[in-house]
Amino acid sequence: MEKNYPLCKHCERRLVPKSIAKNNSKFNKFSKSKCYICKDIFETLDSMLFNIYEKTSNFDFKTFNLGLTLKHSYLERDDYLKSKFKIKGIENLKFSISNELAKKIVKKTKSKKVSDHPDIFLQINFKDESCKIRSKPIFVYGRYNKKIRKISQKLKSCEKCNGIGCHNCNFTGLENIESVEGKISSFFKKKFDSAQVQINWIGGEDQSSLVLGNGRPFFAKILNPKKRNRFLQKSSNLDTVSLSELRKLSVQPKGSVPFKSEVSITVDTKNSISSHTLKKLSILKNAEIINNSKDKKNTPKRIYDIHYKKLGKTTFVLDLFVDGGIPLKSFIQNSDLTPNISELLENPCLCTKLDFKNIIV
Ligand SMILES: [Zn+2]
Ligand SMILES: [Zn+2]
Repeated sequence: MEKNYPLCKHCERRLVPKSIAKNNSKFNKFSKSKCYICKDIFETLDSMLFNIYEKTSNFDFKTFNLGLTLKHSYLERDDYLKSKFKIKGIENLKFSISNELAKKIVKKTKSKKVSDHPDIFLQINFKDESCKIRSKPIFVYGRYNKKIRKISQKLKSCEKCNGIGCHNCNFTGLENIESVEGKISSFFKKKFDSAQVQINWIGGEDQSSLVLGNGRPFFAKILNPKKRNRFLQKSSNLDTVSLSELRKLSVQPKGSVPFKSEVSITVDTKNSISSHTLKKLSILKNAEIINNSKDKKNTPKRIYDIHYKKLGKTTFVLDLFVDGGIPLKSFIQNSDLTPNISELLENPCLCTKLDFKNIIV
């Protein structure tokens, strides 16, 4: 004798085409017992939806997508009935629940369900009744100026714990130093209500260098932002660092961006130097810089323009217009770079000040 399989209206609609349902008593639609397949999961969607609405209310979004985690036994019973009654080509239970949830979320939040690049993705888990939300990152382009020395460009890992987090670093994993990265990150974190920001630098400088002119360009990736619709002003003053040309990007920039720098370098020489000797530097105009260190395999870099001025017996200023990515201190001091200022002048040189006047992309 055939056992009866009580089905809820959702599962019945899904499994049993109308023409068959009429005369088929195997699916007991008048039963008051729980649905054989889904155990009346559709009746419990409201409490899950309540949870979802509460979580999504913290997020700015126009589009969403969702994924479901369901106990395996549900899907097994679904498959069992389908194979037993040779039912083919119908949507599965997961799909059916997703659709039901999506319909309600669309209505309530006035948003749209999309499969590609949704603003937020809802991971709904019926095993533990949880709902997790991931939001699409925001990309921002901008430039920064550094108006005083002694601010490093990047955050540094805590020396005591190597970034793991300890009492020394207040469990941040970071050295407590002022940095451009720290300032930009906290600005975007606050702005977009995000917990993490990654910055892609276009070139770098050490903490003693100023960044003047139009500033150094950067790309910021703001991860899991809650407030994606916040208005971003073109410029922002973060005290010792200022930001300009800020704009949200619709797509993530790919690869590295070539750039050129205008720099002003103050050089101290070991032995006194004459204006006549400095004239040797003129040959550097349009010269190619070759990095002879074995591990470096980079594209050729060039010096486009060079100006120099003697400041004192053992000091001169060097203004350069160069390709980005040349290690400029090494270019002044003795190193694997050829040509090299110290070698060219036959006088050991030391870079005492290096400021970026402009960076061109
Ligand atoms: Zn059901
Ligand atoms: Zn630490």
